[in-house]
Amino acid sequence: MGNSVHPDTDESAIVDAAIAKLLQAHPPARTETQELLGAVFDSGLAWIHFPVGIGGLGLSTVLHQYVYSSLTAAGVPDYISETPIGYGMAGPTIAEHGTEAQIAHHLRRIFTGEFVWCQLFSEPGAGSDLASLSTRAVPTGDGWLVNGQKVWTTLGHLAQYGLLVARTDPDALKHQGLTYFLLDMTLPGVEVRPLRQMSGDAEFNEVYLSDVLVPDSARIGGVGEGWGVAMTTLANERLVLGATTPRHGGAIDEALALWSAREDKTSAAARVLRDRLLDLWIRDDVAWLTGARAAQRRESGPGPEGSVSKIARSSINQQTYELCADLRGAASLIYSAAAALDGTAQPGYMFLRSRAQSIEGGSSEVLRDVVAHRVLGLPPSHRPDKGIPWNEVPRS
Ligand SMILES: Cc1cc2nc3c(=O)[nH]c(=O)nc-3n(C[C@H](O)[C@H](O)[C@H](O)COP(=O)(O)OP(=O)(O)OC[C@H]3O[C@@H](n4cnc5c(N)ncnc54)[C@H](O)[C@@H]3O)c2cc1C
Repeated sequence: MGNSVHPDTDESAIVDAAIAKLLQAHPPARTETQELLGAVFDSGLAWIHFPVGIGGLGLSTVLHQYVYSSLTAAGVPDYISETPIGYGMAGPTIAEHGTEAQIAHHLRRIFTGEFVWCQLFSEPGAGSDLASLSTRAVPTGDGWLVNGQKVWTTLGHLAQYGLLVARTDPDALKHQGLTYFLLDMTLPGVEVRPLRQMSGDAEFNEVYLSDVLVPDSARIGGVGEGWGVAMTTLANERLVLGATTPRHGGAIDEALALWSAREDKTSAAARVLRDRLLDLWIRDDVAWLTGARAAQRRESGPGPEGSVSKIARSSINQQTYELCADLRGAASLIYSAAAALDGTAQPGYMFLRSRAQSIEGGSSEVLRDVVAHRVLGLPPSHRPDKGIPWNEVPRS
């Protein structure tokens, strides 16, 4: 349906039947949002590769994009864009590593948007090198006392829960001394402060954690096993960030509309703009097809190839929004950060916002390293801190 790919697999019939049954029992136009999303979850169409009973049908991920496009085209709210961190990161992490109680408590609420989630990974001294983070969690009674500072926390100001990675053993190697928690953001000691971006938005925050008492029931995965759990989160984050743009949608659609509305299509300057548009249109389509092909080959969960989509998509988007700015001409110079604060839509917004796309969710430089090593099989980069306990690694 729509722009999605519908491969001819044995699973197609199962998925089509589940979609038809859902839409008949809960017509999107006449069903309240929470009830509708709850019904999608109960039908196993939320994450089709999850086991039956927890939002899935136990299928491969091949039809994931098809289900998403079919449901949203039929009027189901865009559950990925509405709750990107919850859907794309918290859900898969909890499904793979969570206890039965954590799965039962969180997954349906994540999908229906009842609980908003944020990701408490990056710190002022740990971004690309996430495993060097220094937020501490010290055991106390039947819980943990957490102290530290996180930064760039998207949706932190709205979130009920955060995906937190903290250091529980500073004497261990940096990847081995980490533990992962599902942090209740309403706990005493959690302070969220907004950060203003150049677009005027404040979509992300600094989060200060001061003597936050976290129950051990909020731990996900074993003590010291947080890095493995974080890898699940990050692989899913790249998949979501790289895969939600519809074919011929988003930036390239905007550029095409601007070109169509243009009076001068024949001058030398216009022909240069047209060349750029065609080049970007082709690259956009190749990136989309490459992503779709990778998704079809993937049997379960995302792999390092999600990084390829993320690198390509962020670079193409940035160049396409640059072209949009050139197509608008002088009108692109008018931008009001104050209007952005009020949520007023402005033409130049995505030109500014797209600059972040090659940084968020792993910078393009670092993802190229991932592709080189884990997809192409090239030797890993030199790591001067390899084999050294975290508390002996020099840091500023
Ligand atoms: C819009 C936005 C939203 C974000 N949301 C969240 C969020 O919700 N939660 C969260 O935890 N984080 C979030 N982040 C943080 C994001 O994950 C980090 O910004 C990113 O991982 C880079 O880390 P850093 O900013 O510390 O840069 P650094 O790691 O300091 O990197 C600085 C520069 O050095 C380059 N570099 C670093 N290491 C290498 C290397 N080994 N080889 C080559 N080049 C290298 C980088 O590519 C970059 O250009 C967000 C960021 C943005 C921009």
